[in-house]
Amino acid sequence: MTKHIFVTGGVASSLGKGLTASSLGRLLKLRGLRVTLQKLDPYINVDPGTMNPYEHGEVFVTDDGGETDLDLGHYERFIDENLSRNSNATTGSIYQAVLAAERRGDYLGKTVQVIPHITDEIKRRITRLATDDVDVVITEVGGTVGDIEILPFLEAIRQYRKDAGRGNVCYVHVTLVPYIGPSGEQKTKPTQHSVTELRSRGIQPDLIVCRSEEPLSDDLRNKISNLCDVDERAVVNAADARNIYELPLIFHDEGLDQVVCEVLQLDEHEVDLGPWEEVVHLVEAATQPVRIGLIGKYVQLADAYLSVVESLKHAGFHHGAAVEIEWIQSEDVEGLLAADRLGHLDGIVLPGGFGARGVEGKIAAARYAREEELPCLGLCLGLQAMTVEFARNVLGFSGANSTEFDPTTRFPVIDLMLDQRDITDKGGTMRLGAYYAVLTPGTKVAAAYDEPVVSERHRHRYEFNSNYRARFEEAGFVCSGTSPDKRLVEFIELADHPFWVATQAHPEFKSRPDRPHPLFRELIGAALERRRERTAELHATTPADPAGVSRSHAS
Ligand code: GLN
Repeated sequence: MTKHIFVTGGVASSLGKGLTASSLGRLLKLRGLRVTLQKLDPYINVDPGTMNPYEHGEVFVTDDGGETDLDLGHYERFIDENLSRNSNATTGSIYQAVLAAERRGDYLGKTVQVIPHITDEIKRRITRLATDDVDVVITEVGGTVGDIEILPFLEAIRQYRKDAGRGNVCYVHVTLVPYIGPSGEQKTKPTQHSVTELRSRGIQPDLIVCRSEEPLSDDLRNKISNLCDVDERAVVNAADARNIYELPLIFHDEGLDQVVCEVLQLDEHEVDLGPWEEVVHLVEAATQPVRIGLIGKYVQLADAYLSVVESLKHAGFHHGAAVEIEWIQSEDVEGLLAADRLGHLDGIVLPGGFGARGVEGKIAAARYAREEELPCLGLCLGLQAMTVEFARNVLGFSGANSTEFDPTTRFPVIDLMLDQRDITDKGGTMRLGAYYAVLTPGTKVAAAYDEPVVSERHRHRYEFNSNYRARFEEAGFVCSGTSPDKRLVEFIELADHPFWVATQAHPEFKSRPDRPHPLFRELIGAALERRRERTAELHATTPADPAGVSRSHAS
């Protein structure tokens, strides 16, 4: 019988429910259990694919082409399993399914209602993950208890305990214990209110995870235990951590997985923390500084590039390097001389994006990187900007562009695939999900992957225009990987540059803390190399320090 854990949140959003669910998933996996995770999102959009990254952060893409909530990225990075689109359901997608059934006549003339029809559909989404090869399904409910739109979800998970049997369901509620400066105290009242709200929906939490800046005192733990009617051991404290990868160990010390396993009668499974301790060890040993510029359009919200940032960190762990990310608004690179903006960096990333704003800045950055031998990794739109740059400045194709930004350009070096031209609907019309690419032997990309055929996730409409391929290649532009039928260019690079590499895919979705993605790993390797060379040059040109000089004179 598959067991279920439901993670809800109270008091405020962004408390780290996703990281709590992910850490718990990892701990259960370290106990030898087979775990999967899912996110239920109460908003009406059918999926996050059409949502502005400023509002919702990155859209995480699964192998099967699901455009999903960024929490799925945390899930995959922590439990080290590839999930599918089934691991994310929104109110919109649930209503879409119920309305389609209603139109087909499946409800046989009944009045279709939130209870039972919507709640049944929510329960069906939960149950479909409970396959024979899964021991525990962790379901995170997005939003905060008290929101209007969360009610059907709370009702569905409340009913779930009755359906699945008491010993098979565990409720974990994540709340905030704020520190009130003037009185110098941590406050439990918001937690009490949020648990009261949850109980008014019929759910008594089995565990309460308290987020706090500073560790919770025993008194407060006792108070929360008494007032919210959970065991003192089941009041788990998540004080702010230095880095997210420490969280599973912190939660384990707090007894999270132990109490959950007791509730679910899974406590015969011993935990082996060893593999995760190794991850944390890698993280802590990563201290050598390296500075990477992330040149994007949505830089005000770091979550918009969450997987890129995590991939850079993972690559740093591999090299013992602490990656400092400098967020650079791509529009700024247009106006300023690229040298002023980028000259001090060890490497840059040109990430994905949509729409014309800031693209010229990415193109200027690509040029600077090419001319100054600055390591540069292009992702999706990044590849497109680098291609346009090469066309304009090396091939002399003045005004070359992507038809996304200039539909009438004389040199459409990036263009829609033929079969995409007539589509106007904005949902799900992209090349989405995992596609294979065949790598060209002898290239940097092939050496990085050390595999002849690779699979990466995609999310884009436009492609390198293969009509120009021969012209590019004559000038030293290397197509280092293509689709198996050779129609689509998937990877590009320059042979005579330390690292000017790009992919049409989104490799950031597949990096793991202990298994960095090869392209990010090589970017950081090249950036560290450049940093070493520049430090050596600096030492060679700087005169010896005056103190040293005077000492030698004195002797
Ligand atoms: N806007 C570009 C396209 O649709 C790139 C998309 C992306 O970077 N994800 O092809």
